[in-house]
Amino acid sequence: MSETRIVNGLSVDVEDWFQVGAFENTISREDWDGLELRVGDNVARILDLFDEAKVKATFFTLGWVAERNKPAMREIVERGHELASHGYDHTRIFTFTPDQFAADIHKAKAILEDAGGVAVSGYRAPSFSIDARNPWAHDVLAGQGYAYSSSVAPVVHDHYGWHEAPRFAFNPVAGSDLVEIPVTTAIFGGRRLAAGGGGFFRVLPYGFSRWAIEQVNRQDGRPAVFYFHPWEVDPGQPRVVGARMRSRLRHYTNLSKMAGKLSNLLGEFAWGRMDELAERERSRSLDWAA
Ligand SMILES: [Zn+2]
Repeated sequence: MSETRIVNGLSVDVEDWFQVGAFENTISREDWDGLELRVGDNVARILDLFDEAKVKATFFTLGWVAERNKPAMREIVERGHELASHGYDHTRIFTFTPDQFAADIHKAKAILEDAGGVAVSGYRAPSFSIDARNPWAHDVLAGQGYAYSSSVAPVVHDHYGWHEAPRFAFNPVAGSDLVEIPVTTAIFGGRRLAAGGGGFFRVLPYGFSRWAIEQVNRQDGRPAVFYFHPWEVDPGQPRVVGARMRSRLRHYTNLSKMAGKLSNLLGEFAWGRMDELAERERSRSLDWAA
């Protein structure tokens, strides 16, 4: 049990089972409307899990999902959680021009604010897609008045990563209050490991995540930032055929164990909303621009 009880950031990237980056070459965007929506039921399950553990969190939600699941958006807000943006339809930012990105986040914010009835001030890029190719994305977020972003994975990974970026809170835009809160990394053998969720949490034994969060809280004295997806608590989701074996392995491993693992994690550390974490981290954040 951690004695320091630093309040870590808990987040859910709200997208449906067919909107995962690893399947983008298997399921086309045009097919989405014909597929079974499961995200609403999965969000309901997660809200109950969070109530049981008495924790609040941030739900980074796609505009596309919010349009089709308005009651779930209200429920997120009414139960004390933060509703934040994950963009409109999971298009990764390095495929956008700056103007296209600006339009995407503007559209998603309007839909989320309408569905949830609250202001949206936080953003997470699809697949942590702010990296060395598109540092201008932070300028666009600052220009639209976002308080914080949690969109950078400061690691090398086959799907994402900005290796040079700081591991903890930084100010990416001079003259702006925008703070970037990178997803958690741990140092192992001199290398940075992506340790904030995804396959690291679901596929590896729970002890690895405990070790990583303790390292960050105790050695670094900083909050960890953890994320997962509604489809990760849904063992009954349809299986996507035709995707790469490696993607399938990563996607479907340990789905049935996820809820129990999450309960352990929520009970063992202190957790809270990302907007509150960003405000606490703001005074300690580095000025760092690419
Ligand atoms: Zn996502």
